[in-house]
Amino acid sequence: MSTDENDKRLRSSILVEEGDQVIVIDTGPDFRQQMLRAGAAKLDAVLFTHEHRDHIAGLDDIRAFNFIQRKPMDIYAEERVMRALNNGFPYVFAEKKYPGIPQVIMHRISTEPFNIGSMEIIPIRMMHYRLPVLGFRIGEFAYLTDGNYISEREKEKLIGVKYLVVNALRRESHISHFTLSEATSLMEELSPRMGFITHISHQMGLSKDLIKELPPYIRPAFDGLVLEV
Ligand SMILES: [Zn+2]
Ligand SMILES: [Zn+2]
Repeated sequence: MSTDENDKRLRSSILVEEGDQVIVIDTGPDFRQQMLRAGAAKLDAVLFTHEHRDHIAGLDDIRAFNFIQRKPMDIYAEERVMRALNNGFPYVFAEKKYPGIPQVIMHRISTEPFNIGSMEIIPIRMMHYRLPVLGFRIGEFAYLTDGNYISEREKEKLIGVKYLVVNALRRESHISHFTLSEATSLMEELSPRMGFITHISHQMGLSKDLIKELPPYIRPAFDGLVLEV
């Protein structure tokens, strides 16, 4: 077992702050722990990339923010993901609400750009094997977790991106995630100033060895990584 902190990874998720606006992309099983660790005192909205458990399981813990902020949480997801949230957390969407349960306001999104306050979000369609999922571009930053295919048309939405996060599970091919070389070639194609690999499996080996294989502008992301753009 590695003692390197960069080899200890909770489930993939990010927090984005712009002005006084704070959003989170995905609430996996580690959501509560991640928010406490980040010292996040405020949360305005949650965006979902897709409905796999490692991206939605922590939804219940938004109730801490409901309590502090005294208002429902704005949730942005595609129709199919909304249905999955409904099935996974029926009490949240029940007619008769039990006191103390999470309160949400659902916003249905598609591949069309939308705004959360002053933040413009551009959804990027990716395929996660057969599941259509979303990546998100916010200004010069883009986050593409869980997927292994992006059409040329969707790639156009990523032109000019300076900071790019792409999932790569491992070196060997995988049915629904990019491999390391697929992720790095996508980055070469889009040539961001910096690229980060996320959703890394333990099968990728140690972070210190991975770094040696990557071009200097691509780094494995790590828990607690902060980017100022
Ligand atoms: Zn997934
Ligand atoms: Zn995942």
